[in-house]
Amino acid sequence: MSKTIQVDAGGGTVEADRFDQLAELATVVGDRERLSVEAPFTGEEIGTVPAGTEADIEAAVERAEAAQEEWEARPVAERTEVLDDVHDLVLDRQDELLDVLQLEGGKARLTAFEEVADVAINARYYADRAESYLAREKRQGAMPLMTRTYEYHHPVGVVGLITPWNYPLALTVSDSLPALVAGNAVVLNPAQQTPYTALLAKQLLEEAGLPEDLFQVVTGSGSDLGDPLIDRVDFIGFTGSTSTGRIVAERAGSNLIKCSMELGGKNPIIVLDDADVDKAVEGVVRGCFTNAGQLCISGERLYVQSGVYDEFVEKFAEATENLTLGVDYDYSADVGSLVSEEQLEKVTEHVEGAKARGATVLAGGEARPDVGPYFYEPTVLADVDEEMAVGCDETFGPVVSVYQFDDIDVAVREANNSEYGLNASIWTADSELAHEIAPQIECGTVNINEGYAAAYGSVDAPMGGMKDSGIGRRHGKEGILKYTESQTVAEQRFGSMGKPPGVPASIYTRMMTGSLRLLKRLSKFP
Ligand code: NAD
Repeated sequence: MSKTIQVDAGGGTVEADRFDQLAELATVVGDRERLSVEAPFTGEEIGTVPAGTEADIEAAVERAEAAQEEWEARPVAERTEVLDDVHDLVLDRQDELLDVLQLEGGKARLTAFEEVADVAINARYYADRAESYLAREKRQGAMPLMTRTYEYHHPVGVVGLITPWNYPLALTVSDSLPALVAGNAVVLNPAQQTPYTALLAKQLLEEAGLPEDLFQVVTGSGSDLGDPLIDRVDFIGFTGSTSTGRIVAERAGSNLIKCSMELGGKNPIIVLDDADVDKAVEGVVRGCFTNAGQLCISGERLYVQSGVYDEFVEKFAEATENLTLGVDYDYSADVGSLVSEEQLEKVTEHVEGAKARGATVLAGGEARPDVGPYFYEPTVLADVDEEMAVGCDETFGPVVSVYQFDDIDVAVREANNSEYGLNASIWTADSELAHEIAPQIECGTVNINEGYAAAYGSVDAPMGGMKDSGIGRRHGKEGILKYTESQTVAEQRFGSMGKPPGVPASIYTRMMTGSLRLLKRLSKFP
């Protein structure tokens, strides 16, 4: 039994035996070693979960496969009802979700709420759209009128998901919902730091009507469980760092299964001379320091045009200094903790390395053990160059480097000067100009007058990375059809696709050549 931790959560509490109950929901088929889960706010142990093994993955996939057959046979409309209920349930039960998210992730409560909202938005979207996206579609036949052709979308079967610790509700549940409603089962290996959110999510999904066994959670180390999972599932969805993503994608490739890779970023923000400075300061602060910068789409490179540079940077540094750090299970702190000692070391290394090479600290720049063991101040740096790790590698912490530019073309070139291509943001009063610049930026999402939430929240449109930031997209039609196999069924109603009997091949090919020319003149593919 883990020791009792009472969490003051604005009137509610989560007791330690609740974590023991949640740990029971992990798929496990024997006695296993236990892995400690830590509360980043204090460094204390919250509880322990099983260190899953290959046998647990095998059992999870087998159970998932059995449940999937019955689930696939249900009409889509029945499956969408579960998503409708998930929407209501996560909103109704948000207090406990927020407590658990804060407790194991160390995040500010408002950031935790973003995750709850994200699940609700995705649940409603796919509840409303799944039927039309999954419906049989009529396609142009090989021979107009004579060939009747349909496209079907079948579930792939069992979807494996490997997810990080930074958004442990949104990146597990929101990415599972389209897979589930498409008729698949899901086997999830959540990050070792944040298993309880995933286990609580499993309980809520089942309360919403998801059949038992359809959503399996195997806790334990991704480096141990990744390969056995990838070897057994029909699709692997990975969210995490680019370096691990390469390992996962290679394995998926050798198994010839489909995959999606949602990977790292070094996201640029461009502030133009005509931007509304106060609005831009508020949005860029949010765009850089939400979740203490542990957000794949948060800004780490800030390009500010010369005419507004001094005013913007002064106000931005001041607003950054004014952010409150805190260990509160209410909405009083703006910024929470980093997730772990490892994360604190990386952030410290990036900032100290930059300082040693001549970077200037405009705000923050120090760890804050007085608040909690892994807290780090939101930090703004200037005089950063590409030789510094903070200038080119993803920090994944509350650190942004500011650069001045005169010419917009130079800013666009600099923004694109990265191996990553996840998210970008442009601040200007000139909407037309922003829409001219945006398509030139090599990122999967570009926000205008917002840091990240406008594009990420537009769940009807695809979200994902270009270049080393990923393969595939979540959200929208692509975000559900990726979990399906397309099948073409074509019926030859009249005539034959072959050479008519008795007609010499030389005549047949001449007739066909004439028909093809005629078709080009008479009609276009719709
Ligand atoms: P990570 O790559 O270290 O770990 C991610 C997941 O992979 C974890 O669950 C981990 O257990 C697992 N894993 C580790 N080794 C593995 C292996 N050999 N095979 C299979 N799985 C393995 O990343 P992290 O530190 O947890 O997360 C931070 C990274 O995630 C950042 O780079 C961030 O940008 C990225 N991220 C991307 C998105 C996105 O949507 N593009 C969203 C959130 C985070």
